Amino acid sequence: MRLVLLGPPGAGKGTQARMLRELAGIPQISSGDLLRAAVHEKTPFGLEAASYMDRGELVPDDLVLNLIDTRLGAADAKQGFILDGFPRSVAQAEALRAMLMKRRGKSVDRVIALNVPDEEIVRRISGRRTCTKCGAMYHLVSGPPRKPGVCDKCGGELYLREDDSETTVRTRLNVYNATTRPLLEYYGGLGVLRQIDGMGKPEEVDARIVAALDGLIPKTARAKSARARGN
Ligand code: AMP
Repeated sequence: MRLVLLGPPGAGKGTQARMLRELAGIPQISSGDLLRAAVHEKTPFGLEAASYMDRGELVPDDLVLNLIDTRLGAADAKQGFILDGFPRSVAQAEALRAMLMKRRGKSVDRVIALNVPDEEIVRRISGRRTCTKCGAMYHLVSGPPRKPGVCDKCGGELYLREDDSETTVRTRLNVYNATTRPLLEYYGGLGVLRQIDGMGKPEEVDARIVAALDGLIPKTARAKSARARGN
């Protein structure tokens, strides 16, 4: 299954991508994570990307496309993938189409768009804390770690991402509305788009997504998702 998750920052793409990764057994490919890894390694490329990310602006396509193309070429992406945060513009969607055609002549099977109102986005992101080591995410109010400031999974230190400050979040929302939102029309026109209500608990959103993937993930995986929700 080749899946794209669309939605504004804080809509829950990362959380949902991780749940789906477990269910479908295919990798989550997050352009934000790939970029943050490059920033962390302080490569010239990472340093250039950081200046855009800190301001909440999109990193130029030539930097991002290279990263994604390389990642899609890895062995674990052959059976499918969950793209999270990419594409973010119609130009990137066209580039993705070309990358997939070049490899195996396949296209994206489904695009799930998570709808969440702007005010909820700001509330969610300003309480968000990310693990410096494993990238796990917490929310100070709705999903705090057991010990403040420490990751439950790996013991890493939790931090507020520089681009999660309220002003930068507003910029990121503007960028989403101006540049990424047109993808709804683009993928709607290709007949692969499903719009999902992104409000509620992560398990509730997960159930809506799994329903919208009907036919694309095995029945056994759907049953596993229902069991995890206690149905
Ligand atoms: P995310 O973790 O997906 O919210 O991404 C964090 C930041 O990384 C964004 O605000 C952008 O600066 C940059 N970024 C992530 N994905 C892309 C992309 N597909 N194109 C351009 N910039 C991106």
